[in-house]
Amino acid sequence: MKTLINGLHHVTAIAGKPQSNVDFYAGILGLRFLKKTVNFDAPDVYHLYYGDETGSPGSIMTFFPFGQIQRGRRGNGQMSYTAFSVPEGSLGFWTERLKTFNIIASKPQNRFQEEFIRFDDHDGLGIELVATGNDERPAWVSGSIPEQHAIRGFYTVALQENSSDRTIDLLAHQMQHRFVAQHGDIMRFEAGLGGAGNYVDIIGNPEEKRGLQGAGTVHHIAFGTDTDETLLATREVLLEKGFEVTPLIDRQYFHSIYYREPGGILFEVATNPPGFTADETQEALGSALKLPSWYESKREMIEQRLEPLAVRAW
Ligand code: ZN
Repeated sequence: MKTLINGLHHVTAIAGKPQSNVDFYAGILGLRFLKKTVNFDAPDVYHLYYGDETGSPGSIMTFFPFGQIQRGRRGNGQMSYTAFSVPEGSLGFWTERLKTFNIIASKPQNRFQEEFIRFDDHDGLGIELVATGNDERPAWVSGSIPEQHAIRGFYTVALQENSSDRTIDLLAHQMQHRFVAQHGDIMRFEAGLGGAGNYVDIIGNPEEKRGLQGAGTVHHIAFGTDTDETLLATREVLLEKGFEVTPLIDRQYFHSIYYREPGGILFEVATNPPGFTADETQEALGSALKLPSWYESKREMIEQRLEPLAVRAW
């Protein structure tokens, strides 16, 4: 069977103040600030992208920072945690580094025979760092973070569900994921080449209340596909199973379809091309406000409504 789904592409979450979002992900976690653009459906709100040097699929974390908005509530029908991958032996470094920014991480914990720490971003979004010796992806090196401890990209994401059976069925059958292992009430799946950046964890938690969207919650999770052809083939497979899927949408840096998985989480499938150098050179990524062509005529007005952002490396 042709490969349709490669693994994770990006995760998009809702944030509060844009500057504290930049400070957390670029400044403290040391991800590359990849792209400064606007929410294509609401251009008075930024859309900020972070990731590795080029914005490789599986490394891209994006935010809609709405400013003063209410925090969401964690619960079912939402992502529970977003985990990034760091080299083995790095958790001590990160625990100390986070402490200097007044972020208190959990003690190292174990899951699937891997060590990880957990903490919240400035808006309460659950972030983990998983230490692994099996991730060959290059790191983006920033500020005072040494290369041997820097983040490599995503490790896994966790979907928290009231009842996980139909989500598992979707992942396993329409979305080409393979079962990897079970740890307590967490089932791990992987797609494509598997391993770090290609995992999805599903937590079945019927006791928990439903989550509410707001700052500090994930808006959607996107899976990567190679081309428009594989994107449309995925769409056909989903339609055949009865999912309501959008038509192909041009997101400037990728083409996308969207649908809701049975537990209520918004899923996207996004093409790997054209990528973030579609409108900026690789060296210049993130340095200028980028607008899609249909907003260029309103640039002045849009810029006036957005607060200026500083990207700081610590
Ligand atoms: Zn997206």
